[in-house]
Amino acid sequence: MKLRVLGCSGGSVRGRFLSCFLLEDRVSLDAGGLTNALTLKEQQGVGHVIVSHTHLDHNCGLPFLLDNVFGDVSEPVMVYGTHTVIESLKAHMFNGDLWPDFTQLPSADAPTMRFQEIEAEKPFVIGDLTFTPIEVEHLTPTVGLLIENKDGAILYTSDTGPTDRIWQLANAQDNLKAVITEISFSNAGGALAEASGHMTPDILAEELKKLTKDVPVLVTHTKPGHLHLIEQELEDMNLARVELLEQGKTYNF
Ligand SMILES: [Zn+2]
Ligand SMILES: [Zn+2]
Repeated sequence: MKLRVLGCSGGSVRGRFLSCFLLEDRVSLDAGGLTNALTLKEQQGVGHVIVSHTHLDHNCGLPFLLDNVFGDVSEPVMVYGTHTVIESLKAHMFNGDLWPDFTQLPSADAPTMRFQEIEAEKPFVIGDLTFTPIEVEHLTPTVGLLIENKDGAILYTSDTGPTDRIWQLANAQDNLKAVITEISFSNAGGALAEASGHMTPDILAEELKKLTKDVPVLVTHTKPGHLHLIEQELEDMNLARVELLEQGKTYNF
């Protein structure tokens, strides 16, 4: 499974893009840095966008993607989210005020975008990939995703604080290759992490006691102001299987 890290920053600063991972060159898992990281031609190849939750840092690239491909796509871009996510995107983003309603443009019969509702623990298929949404613990309803193909599976937790169900399902996977999870704040910012439904190196270390699979744990969503301290703390803690994701890098699982 090919995964290209378009953005793995938990905040927007020069040169660092927000949460966005491109699978097999055409499925975007979250859509923070989507248009910052891709050429126009590459954007035209994105047929599917999965939105894990309503927070802007996970979907702010979507309106600009649709604007860029408007008039140039033969099939609508499919946008996947839970009921809550889709209702929020309709009401607050594609409401004809903040941004046009691309489900009706250029026409209702041949629109630029279509919504597809997904449900927790009901798998759905895009090409060779099967996705299972799994609820995690965040400020707003959020799903992580288990992503499987014939070669194996990876798990993306999206934004979460301490949680249980996703680790249970990870442990039940025979062919898990990697976990992508988050650290937003340094240990010094533990109170902020707790208040906002995120993790620190210490919280992740506790969470990983629930994961029985010995697979690489790749970290995303570091807040720019906490990044250096997080790097130091991870080094001091000597968590062998934990490493920070690299923006722009392609991983083959
Ligand atoms: Zn969030
Ligand atoms: Zn986020």
